[in-house]
Amino acid sequence: MIEDSPFVAAAPVLVPMPAERPYTYAVPAGMRVVPGSIVRVPLGPRQVAGIVWDGVVEQVDARKLRPIEQVFDCPPIDRAMRRFVDWVAQYTLSAPGMVARMLLRAPEAFDPEPWIEGLQRTLVMPDRMTDARTRVLETAEGGLAWTRSGLAHAAGVSSTVIEGLKAQGVFETVMIPPRPVVAAPDPSYALPDLMPDQNDAASMLRANVAAGAFNVSLLDGVTGSGKTEVYFEAVAAALDQGKQVLILLPEIALTHAFLERFQGRFGAKPAEWHSDLPPRMREKVWRQVAEGGVRVVAGARSALFLPFKQLGLIVVDEEHDPAYKQEDRVFYNARDMAVVRGHIGGFPVVLASATPSVESRVNASQGRYARAVLSARFAEAALPDLKSIDMRRAPPARGGFLSPVLIDHMRKTLEKKEQSLLFLNRRGYAPLTLCRVCGHRFGCPVCSAWLVEHRFRGQLVCHHCGHNERRPEACPECGTLDHLVACGPGVERIAEEVVTHFPDARTIVLSSDIMGGVRRLRLELEAIANGEADIVIGTQLVAKGHNFPNMTLVGVVDADLGLANGDPRAAERTFQLLSQVTGRAGRTGKKSLGLLQTFQPDHPVMRAIVSGDAESFYQREISERERAALPPFGRLAGVIVSAVTRAEAEGHARGLRRSAPEASDLFVLGPAEAPLSLLGGRHRFRLLIQGERRADMQGFIRTMLANGPKQRGSVRVQVDIDPQSF
Ligand code: ADP
Ligand code: ZN
Repeated sequence: MIEDSPFVAAAPVLVPMPAERPYTYAVPAGMRVVPGSIVRVPLGPRQVAGIVWDGVVEQVDARKLRPIEQVFDCPPIDRAMRRFVDWVAQYTLSAPGMVARMLLRAPEAFDPEPWIEGLQRTLVMPDRMTDARTRVLETAEGGLAWTRSGLAHAAGVSSTVIEGLKAQGVFETVMIPPRPVVAAPDPSYALPDLMPDQNDAASMLRANVAAGAFNVSLLDGVTGSGKTEVYFEAVAAALDQGKQVLILLPEIALTHAFLERFQGRFGAKPAEWHSDLPPRMREKVWRQVAEGGVRVVAGARSALFLPFKQLGLIVVDEEHDPAYKQEDRVFYNARDMAVVRGHIGGFPVVLASATPSVESRVNASQGRYARAVLSARFAEAALPDLKSIDMRRAPPARGGFLSPVLIDHMRKTLEKKEQSLLFLNRRGYAPLTLCRVCGHRFGCPVCSAWLVEHRFRGQLVCHHCGHNERRPEACPECGTLDHLVACGPGVERIAEEVVTHFPDARTIVLSSDIMGGVRRLRLELEAIANGEADIVIGTQLVAKGHNFPNMTLVGVVDADLGLANGDPRAAERTFQLLSQVTGRAGRTGKKSLGLLQTFQPDHPVMRAIVSGDAESFYQREISERERAALPPFGRLAGVIVSAVTRAEAEGHARGLRRSAPEASDLFVLGPAEAPLSLLGGRHRFRLLIQGERRADMQGFIRTMLANGPKQRGSVRVQVDIDPQSF
């Protein structure tokens, strides 16, 4: 402990920078710091917030060091969290400072929240009464402190009335502590009435929470089987123990309905945490999580780095979701890191999904995770009847993308006054625009990608870097007017086709391009749930988690879309996405149907979806991975080298390859052009490293990087342990 040693007048401080280790600062006489203290330190010409780290500082001449400027009045980051930061840095081969940076993302929260000035009733009576004064006194009767504006508003009077009363001594000024962002949840607020299989699963989770030690449970249940109801019981058990709980969700758009559902069970909402939160709210949540006042957080992957005071359970909902992978600066998978966090903190983790990742299924079958299965939908809700439409036999009309079979079912659904969802995981109008005369194709000037036409906006947009330009009238190559054609469909184009068939239907297009952001998206989702649309055309935004009670038809416009890219995980992803999308249908008793438009009705993924036989799909997928020694039976990592010129990038990647150490259990593939070989003006090459399960992947890459060529010029190297696609 730094504070106990009379000799140490210096402390290691981890600053939010790409630094490999903490920097040493002098601790001025009289200043008390402990490992975990959040401090303000000088860094070059700036001042930054950092965390006092572990490890003894050698006796140094503190006079040569720059001093810590300030210790914030903030709970120290606890040992488990510090070990977690170190662990994530080690595993992902990131600088610890960059991991710490994710923890320090609410700078104003390091100072205590200010108390605000308020008013409280004294025993003094006003000299004379008016109606307004009477209302104020009645409102303030309970003796609670009020803010001036709050009291004026509640009593329906102007602030002059309040001022008058205060001048007479009827109210006195008091300081009011900051308000909690959320009320305390009550574990026994509304106990559920669980079905027998739900009850079994809940008992298992409760027992795992009661054990008060690290363990992982996989809650595996078809969409609508009540997984949320069940894991709420684990949450209740952790709350009963006085612990805090973190629930990770993959999509912000989902949180709204989730918060309400949580409130129905626990009488209060959990605190939210995601990038869309207003800054002031972020500060408050961060602080109150650190102080322990917030008991439950529902958040995106970044919530893993909140400084919980007493974390006792993490639930990862939709654990298979690719949104849990961050591919920016620190590349990490929040599902995997949640398990690590539980291991370090010594508490249970629950992973929930209707279509678990192959990784989690294997962990369950090998006994590392406990598994609870819910095999039926709740109550009379039946899973939709699923069929594929063979597009070779029932092709769309010329220029269209919807098979007559699908259109026919949409008509029937409309006649029954029920809702249809058309799913296509492609934003915009058309994925490619070309000139019919000279064949010119519109590509992004800085990426190896075609520009996607967005007709509502009149633009051609790059979906990788955001580059956009007006869609011209004439071809920039040959100058011919009005001969540009859109190739292939996006959701906007499907909407156009739908309108030609059903001009009177209420049609909504939902994708992340929606104007008005998350707020608007929530309103639209609510409108759909309330039956204010007949036909919804959407990307994966509508595929996840939502409950649309009147939706009885789901049509997948291009079920083959995700299978084409040659990625060994493509089948798993497509299976998960299609299960999830078709799972939007038939959430309440009504008979429902899911139709997959496909050119490969015999593909194992289509067969698995149509037959509902997930089990044999998983078995097949697992044995193929095992045969190819792919994750989770082997290990993989990507090393991406990018640079402004192709030669620089390729040269550096080759240099790295030559520097790879000898190893019997790991080998390097490549370098080859990365899947997006040009991105934002940078050329990209990739090395893939594959190896046995127990191989020291991190040590291997670290040696390779250390022995490799010096990073010069525009060269950048990114390491991606356990890449999503390979
Ligand atoms: P999942 O998370 O598996 O998709 P949910 O937990 O969302 O399933 O449950 C689907 C629907 O069934 C929800 O509307 C939920 O409120 C309802 N439900 C599930 N189990 C019960 C139960 N035991 N009692 C009442 N309603 C339930
Ligand atoms: Zn681009």
